[in-house]
Amino acid sequence: MKNGSNTVSESVKTKPSNACKPSIVWFRRDLRITDNSALREAVKFGGPVICVFILESGQRAIGGASKWWLHHSLAALSASITQIGGQLVLRRGNPVEILDDLVDASGAQNVFWNRRYDAAGMETDKRVKARLTERNLVAQSLKSNLLFEPWDIEKKSGGYYKVYTPFKRACLSAGVDRPALAAPDRLLSPEAHPDSDTLEDWGLLPTNPDWSKTIAATWTPGEEGAKARLSAFLHDDGIVGYREQRNLPAIEGTSRLSPHIAFGEISPYQIWSAATAPDLDIPAQDLETFLSEVLWREFSYTLLFYNPDLASRNFQPRFDGFPWEGDADRLPLWQNGQTGYPMVDAGLRQLWQTGWMHNRVRMITASFLVKHMLLDWRHGEDWFWDTLVDADPANNAASWQWVAGSGADAAPYFRIFNPMSQGEKFDREGAYIRQFVPELKDLPTKYLYAPWKAPADVLKKAGVELGKTYPKPIVEHSLAREKALSAFAKTKEAA
Ligand code: FAD
Repeated sequence: MKNGSNTVSESVKTKPSNACKPSIVWFRRDLRITDNSALREAVKFGGPVICVFILESGQRAIGGASKWWLHHSLAALSASITQIGGQLVLRRGNPVEILDDLVDASGAQNVFWNRRYDAAGMETDKRVKARLTERNLVAQSLKSNLLFEPWDIEKKSGGYYKVYTPFKRACLSAGVDRPALAAPDRLLSPEAHPDSDTLEDWGLLPTNPDWSKTIAATWTPGEEGAKARLSAFLHDDGIVGYREQRNLPAIEGTSRLSPHIAFGEISPYQIWSAATAPDLDIPAQDLETFLSEVLWREFSYTLLFYNPDLASRNFQPRFDGFPWEGDADRLPLWQNGQTGYPMVDAGLRQLWQTGWMHNRVRMITASFLVKHMLLDWRHGEDWFWDTLVDADPANNAASWQWVAGSGADAAPYFRIFNPMSQGEKFDREGAYIRQFVPELKDLPTKYLYAPWKAPADVLKKAGVELGKTYPKPIVEHSLAREKALSAFAKTKEAA
């Protein structure tokens, strides 16, 4: 099933009668003017262009961190659109009714948007398309946010790939179908722009308390911020050494493009085109690993498309009876980075302070929740959804299920991340822990990963009083490990 896509030939067929008539471009998770297929198509039609963003009802409510990002991203998009002669109209509510209203107000004959792949989004798009088509308007959805739409890559034997490596191989053999598109130079304005809400009135920014200061100090939402980050990553040696350094949370060894990608401020086409440009001299192994991560996102979207309830339901039904015997009252200890395991706490505090967490530490913290604390992965998915600036319906759900063992091509449940040895291996000097768990900063590195093992005089010298200045471990590692394995054994029996 495609997401109600109109074919290009349909648009060509209708173009003559509708050319030069106003077109509406409906922005969603594609808050950019560069490489925006819908915007390009509207400009091609030759008439005035009305740009609209709708804060939709009836979708999974976005989290606090995403709201903060959205506010700034919309402000940036509005500025970019104004620069090329247009105006961004903001509306809130049901897209079917709002687009209907905008068509009436502007006389638009064409409506363009880029496809999305989550269930609620696709359902809305279908209803919008049905309504606009009923009114004999051009209603065209386009591919812009994925390199490979879920139906583009299928197994020879039919069906979609549930294992990543053959999926990736099939993508690479199909090849990326086009380079990135340039931003339009100019938009023709309609005689009058439809009324717009005021961004500030949407209340997307936190007040009372305003927890966003440290997040604001970390990020520059918007298309320009995204381009600058990509360029710094590709040109200032960020990508050189990526294969090894991407596992080290203390350094900027990854692109940190994820929130920009999640809001569509930069497209995968722009990333792919820039990273594979012939004039760049990136070591092959680093480039290959980076592109492989970009394809993990494509894989997650394929999974989401074919499993619309990926965020709420086990991909492998045998996990439906999993005994999540942990004490949910202890969830806040995990959320607040108070588990007594420094590597876990550092990750969760990084998340709270910056709205982002390093991938290696996402795996460690997620594994700790589902395996050490025996809490359902959906608690973690929900927390990440609320607090990540890159919260993404496909990546978050697929990754949580991957860690929990319930997902497609998942880590085997019995692979239980050891938070101490992970710290020793990937935060060898302890710089990451010291940054986010400063109450331990004076502990010798040797004891940093398991402070309860430090002799009393060492703790005292470092100013650490376990249970007072830093928590004692909330679970004992080897006991928790055994409990998790025996819970998993029950799941196996149930299969
Ligand atoms: P880079 O290493 O520079 O990778 C470039 C891009 O590739 C990323 O921006 C992202 O779009 C994509 N990518 C990288 N790793 C993955 C992956 N494992 N799966 C899918 N796509 C990937 N990523 C999100 O974008 N949103 C989420 O909500 C999210 N939730 C996660 C939850 C858990 C429990 C785990 C283990 C991972 C999650 N990830 C999520 C995947 C990954 O951690 C982030 O994409 C990555 O850390 C972002 O940092 P980066 O942009 O520097 O990545």
